[in-house]
Amino acid sequence: MSECLFCKFISGELNTHKVFENENVLAFKDIYPAAKTHILFIHKKHTENIVEICNTDIGQVTDIFSAMAEWTQQEGLDKSGFRIINNLGDHGGQTIFHTHFHVLGGEKLNPGLN
Ligand code: 5GP
Ligand code: ZN
Repeated sequence: MSECLFCKFISGELNTHKVFENENVLAFKDIYPAAKTHILFIHKKHTENIVEICNTDIGQVTDIFSAMAEWTQQEGLDKSGFRIINNLGDHGGQTIFHTHFHVLGGEKLNPGLN
């Protein structure tokens, strides 16, 4: 059994507030939202970070970005705007080691990247 928190959301061992799911991708609300809308998009196949996912199967990145495009259009965020963030490792501030993309929006975000 995986020790990865996000894999436990995928398997159903732990509950989370899902907002989107298809064959390959799961999206759920971040437990500590940094914006009015803060969703995490993950692939159902475990990888640790964006470098590993690209080296393993770059098609998984397409799966995640297609899901983000579908969901943001469904919610009208493509009109109001949103931000995608991926953190990698210590300097990047990654705390969960299952590749994930943050989608932030639902309000005007602070400008800047840091
Ligand atoms: P990272 O810092 O790795 O880029 O992002 C990890 C994210 O996972 C953080 O924004 C954090 O709030 C979120 N997170 C941590 N634990 C949980 C949890 O148990 N449930 C949910 N939904 N999000 C979590
Ligand atoms: Zn995992």
